[in-house]
Amino acid sequence: MKITLEHLTKKFPGRGRKNPTEVIAVDDFDFEIPDGRLVGLLGPSGCGKSTTLNLICGLLKPTSGKIFFGEDDVTDLAPEHRGVGLVFQNYALYPHLTVRQNIQFPLENLKGADKLSKQEMADRVLEAAGLVQIEALLDRKPGELSGGQQQRVAIARALVKMPRVLLLDEPLSNLDARLRLQTREEIRRIQKQTGITTIFVTHDQDEAMSISDLIVVMKDGVVQQIGKPQEVYDNPVNLFVAKFLGTPPINLFSGRVKDEMLYLGEDQVLSVKDAPDGEVYVGIRPEGFLLREDGAMHCQLVRPEVMGRDVSIVSTHEASENPTIRSIIQAENHVDPEASHVQFDLRPRKVFLFSKTDEKRIPFRIEE
Ligand code: ADP
Ligand code: MG
Repeated sequence: MKITLEHLTKKFPGRGRKNPTEVIAVDDFDFEIPDGRLVGLLGPSGCGKSTTLNLICGLLKPTSGKIFFGEDDVTDLAPEHRGVGLVFQNYALYPHLTVRQNIQFPLENLKGADKLSKQEMADRVLEAAGLVQIEALLDRKPGELSGGQQQRVAIARALVKMPRVLLLDEPLSNLDARLRLQTREEIRRIQKQTGITTIFVTHDQDEAMSISDLIVVMKDGVVQQIGKPQEVYDNPVNLFVAKFLGTPPINLFSGRVKDEMLYLGEDQVLSVKDAPDGEVYVGIRPEGFLLREDGAMHCQLVRPEVMGRDVSIVSTHEASENPTIRSIIQAENHVDPEASHVQFDLRPRKVFLFSKTDEKRIPFRIEE
């Protein structure tokens, strides 16, 4: 089921003297979520992710704009008629019910033509439990399950009504690091297996990048960029997006363009054809540095860190906006930990220029 948001806007009025100003939690969202895909809604806390989900599922009414499921305008449709499955961060399972009863719960209130027989309900529960692989746990109570298992039950409960759309709001936040990794792969598998259009909300860029077909990067209620994870990573439209994606994060510098040459401090580091003269922010991905004895960029070495396959070099440079620069190079490159400085050449595709006024990307041409 394709979802279309048309100029969707949600404003929360200011409340009294403590919060006098209105908040535009969702500002003119105008995009389409393609059928059968997993879309990651990504942004820092407070940027409007949950509000967007609540508008899509109908728990909130938009201030203006429309929502379509396929060709149907669902803007004024009650939540229970939208066919949406929801999973929240806190699994909100009923502690006194068994796993089986928890999963079956949404089916018991179905009325009229949708009403199911006992056998049909039991079959559906088994099917949903199978999808998240918890058939063996059906007779336990939530208190007898691990966090990861509880979250699977919550997902099964959202799937049991065979929703047209699955909405997941930070579903992994309560899990420890290993379980998060495992469960996000699970969610990806379930989504592929069922083909349900899924929106996955997270503030964790790693999580969104790893499982999404498309990511929507948001800031302060405004969509910044939509695209395939790799495309957005390789082509951020502004400084915010460049900084938000990537681990380790992008290295930021204050630089200058003069006669199509990029300067960091005194170093002439890169040819930037067609870029206008002026002061710029320069973002360099950690993998954008090439260790070279005669490299154009001169840095003071802090220390090399060996991380298995790669070596991470921590260094400093006068033009850096951060206390240190982190570059990742292949382990074959030997760095003398006693050395006082290192030199790098830059990979042009890993270097981005941004305006110092509006922080938008400034394109330049790369000479092959
Ligand atoms: P996220 O899920 O990305 O952390 P939210 O969608 O929860 O962000 O919130 C977006 C903005 O809207 C925040 O500034 C938040 O304080 C505000 N907000 C959310 N819900 C309400 C509400 N019911 N009343 C007033 N402001 C709200
Ligand atoms: Mg939220």
